[in-house]
Amino acid sequence: MRSSAPKENELEVSVFGPGFGECLVVHLGAGEWMVVDSCLDASTHQPVALTYLADLGIDVATAVKLVVVTHWHDDHMRGAARVLHACAGARFVCSGALANAQFLGLVASEEIVQQKDDHGAGVSEFAEIVEELRRRGGRSPSSGPEWARADQDVFYRPAASSLPEAHVRSLSPSAATMTVGFKSLQQPRVGTTRKALVSPEPNDTAVVLRVRVGEVSALLGADLETGNDPGRGWLGVIGAGIGPVVKSELYKVAHHGSKSADHEAIWSTLLDASPLAVLTPFVNGSVQLPRDSDVDRITRVARRLLATSTPRPIAPPPRDAAVERTMREVTKSRRVRTGRMGHIRVRHDGRHWREELFGAAFDMSAAR
Ligand SMILES: [Zn+2]
Repeated sequence: MRSSAPKENELEVSVFGPGFGECLVVHLGAGEWMVVDSCLDASTHQPVALTYLADLGIDVATAVKLVVVTHWHDDHMRGAARVLHACAGARFVCSGALANAQFLGLVASEEIVQQKDDHGAGVSEFAEIVEELRRRGGRSPSSGPEWARADQDVFYRPAASSLPEAHVRSLSPSAATMTVGFKSLQQPRVGTTRKALVSPEPNDTAVVLRVRVGEVSALLGADLETGNDPGRGWLGVIGAGIGPVVKSELYKVAHHGSKSADHEAIWSTLLDASPLAVLTPFVNGSVQLPRDSDVDRITRVARRLLATSTPRPIAPPPRDAAVERTMREVTKSRRVRTGRMGHIRVRHDGRHWREELFGAAFDMSAAR
């Protein structure tokens, strides 16, 4: 049953995606939850995390401990401010690479908030988040997000009687990423666009999380890309080598399965042999991720690859001849509208993994 809540000792990672958008809802055990990124359900226009947790009968105001926005891209931010508002007891965590005066000034600027361009939705979403945090902090000048960086514990709960220990650690952004961000902001170019103002690219600043509940662990790759600087991107995460190496059995594949976000060492150093891989596709105009070659590459190293929906627009189903004729007369081209929400739910009860697929979600590895 989709609406049955996990047991107190169970880790759950639920992944939601409608084709453009990503949201993760994570049960940390003990009835405590974390929401990572946000997207909207196309039919209800509600943040999917809130709808799902309400279905489970969870009181989000007390049960959600952490709301994380991994990076500043529309497909990961829609409805994030509403999620934070509803989750009144949650801390808000975002990338430390955004912690600078220019970024907060940008967010606070009414004029820019009202503009809509490629960063429009993200800016207004972030401005609402900052405003929500200000309200909570009694308008204290120091109220604001918590800034995640590499090798930082963003959540910890010790084991208690029958309840497992829980641990959420951010593995990025690296110090080098933050340095590059500060340097680029010190030299604003003439005619600077908002895109340049938030350089480095949002994906480079993404917060990768490692969640551990009891003995099991999941790696949540956000949209972090590999790059070619050994101190940044996935190379920075792999090379950091700080603390004990924990290998995860579940991987939320980075950046919708894109090759630019993959590296052999992610699988050999951060993941267990043949882990379960889950992803959300990214469909935006001609950009469709993952590609067939990405699916081939990932299924070679993963036990299974589950996706929340298809990355390809699907051909429409055949209809009655008369209907077909009319539709051909009145339209130039047709395809099934993508955007149907899919939900992958993975739970671990301390002994076994259990995977369930809802809505548009499907097993990409079985389809090969
Ligand atoms: Zn994305």
